[in-house]
Amino acid sequence: MHTRRVLAVDLGGTNIRAAVVSAEGELTHRRQALTGAAEGPEAVIGRIAALMDAVCGEAGLGLDAPVGVAAPGPINPRTGVVHFTPNLPDWHEVPLGERLRQLSGRTVRLANDGNCAGLGEARFGVGKGTADLVYLALGTGVGGGVISGGRLIDGANGLGAELGHVVVAMDGPRCTCGGIGCLEAFAAGWAIARDAEVVAGTADGIALQREAGSGPITAGTVAAAARSGDPAARRILDRAGRALGAAIGGFVNIFNPALVVVGGGVAVLGDLLLDPARAAIPDHCFAAQRRGLRLEWSQLGDDTALYGATALALGRDLDPAN
Ligand SMILES: [Zn+2]
Repeated sequence: MHTRRVLAVDLGGTNIRAAVVSAEGELTHRRQALTGAAEGPEAVIGRIAALMDAVCGEAGLGLDAPVGVAAPGPINPRTGVVHFTPNLPDWHEVPLGERLRQLSGRTVRLANDGNCAGLGEARFGVGKGTADLVYLALGTGVGGGVISGGRLIDGANGLGAELGHVVVAMDGPRCTCGGIGCLEAFAAGWAIARDAEVVAGTADGIALQREAGSGPITAGTVAAAARSGDPAARRILDRAGRALGAAIGGFVNIFNPALVVVGGGVAVLGDLLLDPARAAIPDHCFAAQRRGLRLEWSQLGDDTALYGATALALGRDLDPAN
């Protein structure tokens, strides 16, 4: 008997990646291409379809094999339309699902990368077998996904679970989304770098300037300064971590998850971020709701989106019958 295999596609701002993945999570026939986002949506969609054809041809995957696509930005997974995406210029109301079906002859399931990653963590990651899980991607932006009762929770038009844009401070800084005081405006890479830029210009900023050298100040710069014991860098990460803890406390009250998984590029900060988050959570949720709660880093690394797309292709419901 053949094991069930799907085609997983990760559309990113820099690379398009595709692979064949088994229901057990074995990843083969991996290929990637540059996104070339500057050439506009049609060129990118053509490259995705070509990559799909190449991988499926190589793996002998029939036209009826399930396909999952993880893409950035708000996407309606019911219609396959990408409303817009900050990482891909000129993507406005792009019928990605329909165009891929026309070009490849395959029906695809689409979802935004945060929602996909939530499913991937619940099926393949540290949350394997967990029916109630909240996933947060801390990176350039902050994305998320919610699995509740073994199902992906994403609202009426599939646009839900924008966990990075919950308010943690009504009088906080402006966010990239236009809102005020979002989690992202405290804990994203850009927000940490913004806070560090301010401090670097003061007498407290010597360690930050030293770590940055002639390059820009990034979240990694702040982490390096904090590890060398710099109190200013530690204060910046403490604030970002407390914002993360406040948001997680809210999610704990709403969803009562068994596990909160944190992934994304800001993972380089490690416990410098998660320790203050852990310490803050009790200030922001009921004791009963957080009993037994686990908070862990994702272990899927660069393949998070591919595993997420795989999980999406296998079904938005974790029940093995689906
Ligand atoms: Zn926001």
